[in-house]
Amino acid sequence: MASKEVLIYGAGMSGMVAACNLAVEGHSVLVRDQEPAYGGSRVFNPSLHTTPLDVQATSEYIGIDLTPVFVPVSALSIYLHDLEVPAPVVMSYHVERSSRPQSLDTLLYNKCIDAGVKFEFDTPLLKKDVPKLEPGTIIACGLNQPAYDYFEVPYLDWYAWMATGEAESDPYAWIWLDECINEYGYISFANGIYYNLLFAYGQEVPREGLNRYLSFMKRVRDMEEHDWEYVHGVAPVTSPDNPQLIRNGIIMCGTISGSIDPFMGFGISGALVSGKVAAIAVTDREKALEEFERFNRNYARAYEFKHNFWYDLRARVDLLEDMARILGTERTIKMMIEGLKKGRKSSAIPGFSPLSCH
Ligand SMILES: Cc1cc2nc3c(=O)[nH]c(=O)nc-3n(C[C@H](O)[C@H](O)[C@H](O)COP(=O)(O)OP(=O)(O)OC[C@H]3O[C@@H](n4cnc5c(N)ncnc54)[C@H](O)[C@@H]3O)c2cc1C
Repeated sequence: MASKEVLIYGAGMSGMVAACNLAVEGHSVLVRDQEPAYGGSRVFNPSLHTTPLDVQATSEYIGIDLTPVFVPVSALSIYLHDLEVPAPVVMSYHVERSSRPQSLDTLLYNKCIDAGVKFEFDTPLLKKDVPKLEPGTIIACGLNQPAYDYFEVPYLDWYAWMATGEAESDPYAWIWLDECINEYGYISFANGIYYNLLFAYGQEVPREGLNRYLSFMKRVRDMEEHDWEYVHGVAPVTSPDNPQLIRNGIIMCGTISGSIDPFMGFGISGALVSGKVAAIAVTDREKALEEFERFNRNYARAYEFKHNFWYDLRARVDLLEDMARILGTERTIKMMIEGLKKGRKSSAIPGFSPLSCH
């Protein structure tokens, strides 16, 4: 196979997975990023993300051992208002996004350097550069809006209050549902830090929403947080056919390709496997398109479930709370475990389904 020169925009997780795979195959790879160093977007990171993941199968698929940086979640609570439902933890992990030694970014960056990938930082992709891009260039610009506009990728805006800090705790997470927002609040603890996010799709998160979340945290967990930042990003979750690998000959990689779970917004797993798919696309378009289709085959179903069913139910957290009270914790957990087992087979989280990595 003739070796190629490959340009990648975005030194985040999917861009570096693509870069490392291509460099190991003997291609000459240059990765450009708008930030001054690796560690992902400075707007969203440092951060700690939580995701269902088949670490073993994903590591094998992308050719990079992920086990050193994915921390198994030891406990997870779902809060329906103040009612805690301890949720079963099935193949769930925390992962840090930063430039600290224990982060995913550091692991991937070191792999890239070992494989001979070159990096140029402080080099944003600008609109004027787009017409000059060679076919086969890889775009891995995450959830930052400008690239979506350049390549006409349909997106939904999301808004969030975000806070981080230091905390010694077991790897724990909660998800909080309340009518004041259409998505959720969540917190994760691992690696001596925590990451707290209250986010909504398609609408701003008002101060009153944050105040409600703050009073929940104080009342139920005796936790206070003063240093909130308000952030905005985009996500390709506007229609059942959002995922698309190639746009005008340019390879989309990571979340911008639509490799994201449209139900909960889990993007880690999809970004990892789509980095490998983008690398395949450089030399074998047909195979890459097949792989892309395979990983995202349940996207449309999850999207429709959310829009035709879940949002209506989700708007009545009081009903969910009543149901959980009537069923009792044990039966609720049992139902969740059954749901998870079934759900994994038809999961819309690319790479998580047992069928999708092998
Ligand atoms: C606040 C937040 C919380 C999240 N929480 C979770 C979670 O708990 N679980 C989960 O599974 N998923 C979560 N996600 C989603 C998940 O993090 C993303 O889907 C995933 O990181 C995307 O990987 P990526 O490779 O596509 O992009 P990223 O890893 O974000 O990398 C994109 C890179 O592109 C660079 N870049 C952007 N624009 C340009 C440009 N114009 N020119 C040059 N470089 C550019 C950025 O600086 C960055 O380094 C979250 C996302 C956010 C933003």
